[in-house]
Amino acid sequence: MTIHESVIITSPEWMRRFVAARRAEGRRIAFVPTMGYLHEGHLSLVEKASELADCVIVSIFVNPMQFGPNEDLDRYPRDLDGDLQKLSGYPVQAVFCPAATDLYPAGFQTSIHVERVSAPLCGAARPGHFTGVATIVLKLFNILRPDIAVFGLKDYQQFQVIRTMVKDLDVPVEIVGCEIVRETDGLARSSRNVFLTPDQRAAAVILHRTLEDAATWISTGRLVRASEVELFLSERIAAEPQARIDYVSCRDAASLEAIDVLDSPVVLAVAVFFGRTRLIDNRVISV
Ligand code: AMP
Repeated sequence: MTIHESVIITSPEWMRRFVAARRAEGRRIAFVPTMGYLHEGHLSLVEKASELADCVIVSIFVNPMQFGPNEDLDRYPRDLDGDLQKLSGYPVQAVFCPAATDLYPAGFQTSIHVERVSAPLCGAARPGHFTGVATIVLKLFNILRPDIAVFGLKDYQQFQVIRTMVKDLDVPVEIVGCEIVRETDGLARSSRNVFLTPDQRAAAVILHRTLEDAATWISTGRLVRASEVELFLSERIAAEPQARIDYVSCRDAASLEAIDVLDSPVVLAVAVFFGRTRLIDNRVISV
């Protein structure tokens, strides 16, 4: 394996200068924003970015603005050395790891609120979450000015929020989505999986299984209304004693608005607690 050396940059001003220099060399810049504790899901985005551009920049920043007061900001897993080692297997030109005080200095008071697409699902369960996400992503876009930004469809609503923001505000960046990377048993890779006990880890496979079963039932015409899909999802998941449902939902895949009959592409989205650990997963179905 080739070991690639990346420049590690903490200052937004240096990040700006680094990008300006790459741009002056005529390079195309692809950006992968992350909160670190990298796994195969993140690395698939880095791989995609390296196919699309000749300068890849990864950010590692656990964004306090997207965590609610009772959420897991303090215990969110961090391992910068491990992350840099994983990234050394990929052609990443720079890793941007700013401090919170650099991005949110005293006096910071601006936020980006994307209305309707932020409202349901994780937006309802985690008030303010997507405002925090949209604000940091726009800020990072303004610092890096990337040509392309790569996001995972694991965070499906986040992807739609970012796409909407970019379209509404004419942000000059192309947004690319990558398929969900899963463990061999189907559990979506997530930095939070590290918190699962062995029992919870075994139980968590219910999410992917249930989404796949629902997809089969939809394609064979056994579920035709969103309400039926939601009942199916909640009954199957609730049958797993380790699982505590936060939400299950079947919505229009693009707008995330509620629907009745399944007659256009839909997304099935679930958020479920296993102990204190909240996992999300989804399945898009083009009916
Ligand atoms: P995070 O570090 O959790 O904020 O995630 C950073 C980026 O990686 C986001 O665009 C996520 O959607 C993406 N990502 C996280 N997990 C996965 C996964 N299992 N498959 C694909 N992309 C992922």
